[in-house]
Amino acid sequence: MARTVIRGGTVVTATETTSADVLIDGEKIVAIAAHDVHDWTTGADRVIDAAGKYVIPGAIDIHTHFELPFGGTFVSDNFESGTRAAAYGGTTTIVDFAVQVKGERIMDGFETWMRKAEGNCAIDYGFHMIVGDVNDESLKEMAIIVGDGVTSFKLFMAYPGVLYSDDGEIYRAMQQAAENGTTIMMHAENGIIIDVLREQAVGRGETDPKYHTTTRPPATESEAVHRAIALAELAGVPLYVVHMSAKEGVHELTLARDRGLNVFGETCPQYLFLNWEDHVSAPGFEGAKYVCSTPIRPRSEGHQEYLWNALARDDLQIVSTDHAGFFYDDDETMGRQKRLGEGNFTLIPNGLPGVEERLNVMYQGGVIEGRISLNRWVEVCSTAPAKMFGMYPAKGTIAVGSDADIVVYDPEASFTYSAETIHMNVDYSAYDGMEINGKPDTVLSRGKVVVENDRYVGRKGDGRYLKRGPSQLLR
Ligand SMILES: [Zn+2]
Repeated sequence: MARTVIRGGTVVTATETTSADVLIDGEKIVAIAAHDVHDWTTGADRVIDAAGKYVIPGAIDIHTHFELPFGGTFVSDNFESGTRAAAYGGTTTIVDFAVQVKGERIMDGFETWMRKAEGNCAIDYGFHMIVGDVNDESLKEMAIIVGDGVTSFKLFMAYPGVLYSDDGEIYRAMQQAAENGTTIMMHAENGIIIDVLREQAVGRGETDPKYHTTTRPPATESEAVHRAIALAELAGVPLYVVHMSAKEGVHELTLARDRGLNVFGETCPQYLFLNWEDHVSAPGFEGAKYVCSTPIRPRSEGHQEYLWNALARDDLQIVSTDHAGFFYDDDETMGRQKRLGEGNFTLIPNGLPGVEERLNVMYQGGVIEGRISLNRWVEVCSTAPAKMFGMYPAKGTIAVGSDADIVVYDPEASFTYSAETIHMNVDYSAYDGMEINGKPDTVLSRGKVVVENDRYVGRKGDGRYLKRGPSQLLR
């Protein structure tokens, strides 16, 4: 078993900031002590100098979509390129979404996605299950798949005719999840109303990317959040609302949490850093780069500031990416992606690349710019995701017995995001031009160094499938 010492750094967890050395034996953290109290370097196979650096738990992105079919194409990152880019950005665990489509069995969808990931991942990975066809058979399989470590099920109030479930279907799935001790994740947007608004907009000749946002106004999100909470309360099931972008929706969540309900929410960097005026309304077709659902909202409406405050107060618990990148310009391999929607915004594949940038942009915009503390940064990017989705304390913290998923983070480094500085399989960064004053220096996945000196040194297949337990964030 290889022994590694991370020496001289500042260990930062969700709750503590301490000057400490960390001893790793094989895949686990076996000891933590004040600097140089023990001479762990003698006999160590590897010593990592962390002087002047933060030693943090590897980030966890519980919302990615690799190789997902969408709108006639596929997300451009597969599990190999996506998890490698994640590692570059300091993310050492992802939880992706296996998909059950209409007419298919849940277990068939799960096996399809397991096959896509197996042997290809650079870091550890798990799956949530998208239930796209609620019926008697699906409800039975929701109970069975818990044995495979799938303890969260995602439903859609959006995308009628594709992944959409009506209130009755949602309620039945919620009852089943409550019985199994699992969590319901919700894409909370009123897709029926949105489809009416889209049809009317296109009828008026409003076909530019910017109309993607105007046809999904905040009320279409907050109404769905409110309804999802009501149904979850009725069914007695924990609810996790994905990719929240409207302040009105977060307000609904806050009211429910104040009543003591087990409801939780995430937002994503694109909603914290990007806006409709500068990005989605960019001249020409450029705005297509920023088309995702829920939409990126107008700065003038004050959502961004509200979301940051909600994160700082724990009204929102997690920052994940909803990574779903598509090439902006036609690509040799992937073909036409974003440009499928030229002349009609309703045909633009929904999603942004982002699995690589999250930890860094949250450090810059959150910690450096004073919106959240260093510990809160670790909490929203790693610890809360681990607890919410049943992976703690193997993942999400630096403690004796935890997996040695560790990022040695250099607060002195600086670089600028652009298409040239990313490693995802896509032709743009949503954070193009953003200067970052910090960077993962060394990234370890279960004790093995996978990124150092800006180079990926792991191998595909290093990542292991994670069987997850019940949520550990419930009240
Ligand atoms: Zn998603």
